[in-house]
Amino acid sequence: MSPERTRTFDAVIIGGGIFGIYAALHFTRKGLHVALLEKESQLFTKASMVNQARLHGGYHYPRSIATARMSDEHRARFTEEHRPFINFSFEKYYAIDRFGSLTDAAQFERFCDYLGIECRRIDSHPIFNFDRIEALYATVEHSFDPVLMANHYRRQVAQEGGIRLFLSTRIEQAERAGDAWLMEATRLDARGSFSLRAPLVVNATYSATNAVNRLFRLPPIELMHEISEIALLTSPDFDALGLTVMDGPFASIMPFGKTGLLSLSSVAYTHHKVSYEAAPHFDCMDLVTHCRPEFQGQCNACPAHPRSHYRKMLAQIRQYFHPEVRFRYYHSLFTIKSKLKANFIDDGRPTEVVQLHQKPDFWCVFAGKVNSIYEVEKIPV
Ligand SMILES: Cc1cc2nc3c(=O)[nH]c(=O)nc-3n(C[C@H](O)[C@H](O)[C@H](O)COP(=O)(O)OP(=O)(O)OC[C@H]3O[C@@H](n4cnc5c(N)ncnc54)[C@H](O)[C@@H]3O)c2cc1C
Repeated sequence: MSPERTRTFDAVIIGGGIFGIYAALHFTRKGLHVALLEKESQLFTKASMVNQARLHGGYHYPRSIATARMSDEHRARFTEEHRPFINFSFEKYYAIDRFGSLTDAAQFERFCDYLGIECRRIDSHPIFNFDRIEALYATVEHSFDPVLMANHYRRQVAQEGGIRLFLSTRIEQAERAGDAWLMEATRLDARGSFSLRAPLVVNATYSATNAVNRLFRLPPIELMHEISEIALLTSPDFDALGLTVMDGPFASIMPFGKTGLLSLSSVAYTHHKVSYEAAPHFDCMDLVTHCRPEFQGQCNACPAHPRSHYRKMLAQIRQYFHPEVRFRYYHSLFTIKSKLKANFIDDGRPTEVVQLHQKPDFWCVFAGKVNSIYEVEKIPV
């Protein structure tokens, strides 16, 4: 690596989703000079954009108290700091399916009571199908708008003097040089390569976590990956409501932030392909040149992404509604969703912030929920 072209920073953050961006803003506000590296030509285009936009209050996790607590703990602060980007104007219901549910009404009520989260049982409602629903609860859960948040965070990064943003850039090599990391980066928009040096590196690349750990010769974390679809719909009858059917035959439909669209997902049909390898490997990668396990492309823009399952998702969610409720399909978003293998059983989605190396320091942030961005403040700076 050529020392005369080396740029020196207090910290290099790899990954320009909400977690990498939040870490960069947090570090610069503490006085650090930070480089933020993003492989795509724009910030905030992967999981931080393609998700169900649910500002989790904990209800979803009756089998993982840790995730439920984490969601609920961070909710108040996230809500306060993101108020303009949150849709507060809809009623959110949770339902227990009469068939095949891994939880039941009594357990769900005990769980909400234990966590101290509001849940009020509703015995009748004109829009829902009680032949299929064992119990229905009015809850307090909102939805953030990923598009508005992306614009907000892109502006914040541009205005923050202490952040040097490198878009279309990825690290090719990394090695230790005393108490610092020395990295070789390539500009993918064909503007050559350069070196970076920093005593602290944060890996916030989500589905690429293990590919980046490997570049630094650090151990993988145990992940599995899925190509996931969020279907977007409209409905003239169901625009200020949200429904999540709990645990087992899970399905959820709710406003997608303030976009005027509804997001729809289901355990059975949202996840198209699965990879249990450390870095995700899917057969569709063999059909294109821009996407590899070590450098994944963007599923949304990719001609090889799976065909939509929206018809199946819609057929599933319709069962919980009165037959006359109308839905219209608009579009689908695709991305890679990654999960800790340890959470296969309890369905938990914790956010892990772990130090994998000291002097030079290397922290790995693996994010379970958007509203847990504050977990990166655990990194001492
Ligand atoms: C289908 C789905 C539904 C979800 N639903 C919800 C929900 O309702 N509520 C909720 O709170 N959470 C939800 N989540 C989880 C949430 O979206 C993620 O936890 C969060 O967005 C992860 O943010 P991130 O910044 O870590 O990752 P990302 O937003 O994926 O950002 C990682 C960035 O790293 C970049 N990158 C990768 N490799 C490199 C490299 N080598 N060099 C430079 N840059 C690189 C990528 O291009 C990307 O921009 C959902 C996730 C999915 C996928």
